[in-house]
Amino acid sequence: MRVRLIAANWKMHKTVDEALAFWRAVRGRVPAGVEAVVCAPFTALHPLAVERREGDGVALGAQNLFWEEAGAYTGEVSPVMLADLGVRYVIVGHSERRQLFGETDETVNKKVRAALRHNLVPILCVGETLEEREAERTEEVVRRQTAAALDGIAADDAARVVIAYEPVWAIGTGRTATGEDAARVARTIRGVLADRYGAGVAEQARVLYGGSVKPANLSQFLAFPEIDGALVGGASLEADSYLQLLDAAN
Ligand code: PEP
Repeated sequence: MRVRLIAANWKMHKTVDEALAFWRAVRGRVPAGVEAVVCAPFTALHPLAVERREGDGVALGAQNLFWEEAGAYTGEVSPVMLADLGVRYVIVGHSERRQLFGETDETVNKKVRAALRHNLVPILCVGETLEEREAERTEEVVRRQTAAALDGIAADDAARVVIAYEPVWAIGTGRTATGEDAARVARTIRGVLADRYGAGVAEQARVLYGGSVKPANLSQFLAFPEIDGALVGGASLEADSYLQLLDAAN
């Protein structure tokens, strides 16, 4: 049985005080059947880790990591540093990082491997651009990104990876994929897992949808058993809206 996951991606938003206010508003209010993850900016991770208490029901996530453990990599944050704070999840390969910061299938793979080595759960983002969608290349792009990100990863670890299907044209635009489209791509992702690792891993791994998810449209995706939750940007910034998403997923 896969547990539904609602992951908040705050992107480059929230001061420490704002992050703490959100946490205090949400903690202890997470419905029992849902996993809640807040992927905060690096600057808020330590204060949130200090604030976090047993029973809060919210896990901490980061939005990026570097693949080395330590060294002369100015400006980077390592998996060791994240694990040290009690961070459990880390977004890898978000389309904003692929498009604005030059991340490639190869660097995404290095980051997924580094996260797994340190017991962090990667939330691997895959998805096509509008141009690729219009050229009917969605399945090919998603297949390629998923397979490349999992290169060199053993079955046990692959089953722990959360894969978020995020069509690039739907992120922050107010446009969403249809539930049917998202479910079809989720099946494609599970197909990649099944080909490489067998049906067991394909059944175990969680696949999320992301792209302009809001409390009012979440059910259109969760109606499909292939979809195990959502990665949410804009609608995760307000505690009330995030709580509504958690309730809708329960
Ligand atoms: C995201 O940041 O991954 C995302 C899906 O953003 P939004 O929900 O704002 O489209």
